Amino acid sequence: MPTPAAGSPATAPDLDIRSVRKRYGAFAAVDDLSFQVRRGSFFSILGPSGCGKTTLLRMVAGFIAPDDGDIVIKGASMRGVAPNRRPVNMVFQHLALFPMMSVGENIAYGLERRGVKGASAKAKVIDMLQRVGLPGSEGKRIDQLSGGQKQRVAIARSLVLEPALLLLDEPLGALDLKLREHMKVELKQLQAEVGTTFVYITHDQSEALVMSDQVAVMNHGRFEQLGTPQQLYYQPQTAFVAGFVGNNNRFEGTIESRNGEQVLLRTASGLGLWSQRVGAVDVGQTAVLFIRPEAIEIGRSPRELPAGEPAWSASVQSVLFDGGNSTVLVLEDKSQTPLHIALPLTGRLADLKSGETVHFGYQPSQAWCFPA
Ligand code: ADP
Ligand code: MG
Repeated sequence: MPTPAAGSPATAPDLDIRSVRKRYGAFAAVDDLSFQVRRGSFFSILGPSGCGKTTLLRMVAGFIAPDDGDIVIKGASMRGVAPNRRPVNMVFQHLALFPMMSVGENIAYGLERRGVKGASAKAKVIDMLQRVGLPGSEGKRIDQLSGGQKQRVAIARSLVLEPALLLLDEPLGALDLKLREHMKVELKQLQAEVGTTFVYITHDQSEALVMSDQVAVMNHGRFEQLGTPQQLYYQPQTAFVAGFVGNNNRFEGTIESRNGEQVLLRTASGLGLWSQRVGAVDVGQTAVLFIRPEAIEIGRSPRELPAGEPAWSASVQSVLFDGGNSTVLVLEDKSQTPLHIALPLTGRLADLKSGETVHFGYQPSQAWCFPA
């Protein structure tokens, strides 16, 4: 098959957001955003409540018009295109399934509105139920389904219309924790199987990290960083991203000295910490430093720490047992600075108790310092 020319609809990204802005009065809910979503990817937009996620998604769906900029789907501008004419579908937290209809009728509903009826609609419904892992359940009533099954029916109802983009607005938010954990994995598998481009918005960083190919971290109507889950976790570009994605110890202070790309931050409590600098951080400036709990080494004696690393002593305040993710809260002895440290998986500190003295250290290359 010949390859289509670059820039043709066949090679265009599924979604191309170009300098899009939406204001409510003087307040910019979405502030001059530009980004692209690759075909077939699971793309998440992660940010705190109120940062503009739903506003952005509703503009893509066509329910809100941008004040400026353009939304291009599969190479076609959506300016002036009504929601029902766009090649997108939206899945909401409140799934809005019709309780009086069967599973099959729910899925066929949108097809019928498009004039697809009878045997051809039925074949599509049966095929879609197969693909979402609910084969043979077309005759079931909605209230016979579990929460996770309802979720899959809601997605099937959207996917059966063969949208270029499936837009999901916090669809797992109403589920209990255990089901949410399960659905994270299911949704990712489902997306990989059907191959439809998913644009998923959430305030839950663990959802975004587990499911996505690409994540954009959003704050105040703008993207702070766009990258793979690994890039966001291991190479945060802003203090907001370092604080929002994963757990982190956060320290404020002033830069006391600099050695190449590493800087020494002194906290108000007197603790001196070396780290990688990110951005224009230099001597004399206030800054904020992050170290992940699992980047800190801990032992009952300094000999248990890697040689040559700076080390401190601390007292254990509490042990936060959470199976493989257990952490301890310690107070560094001299400065009384609190730190969270992940417990090693080997179990050598499994019996650690409050009040014990421990020693800790870390590699400065594993910590980051940003302008405050
Ligand atoms: P998110 O989905 O990230 O929680 P939203 O996109 O719903 O955020 O809202 C972003 C901001 O825009 C919020 O501060 C919200 O109060 C404001 N906002 C949303 N819709 C309207 C509206 N119709 N009128 C005025 N302000 C709005
Ligand atoms: Mg929202």
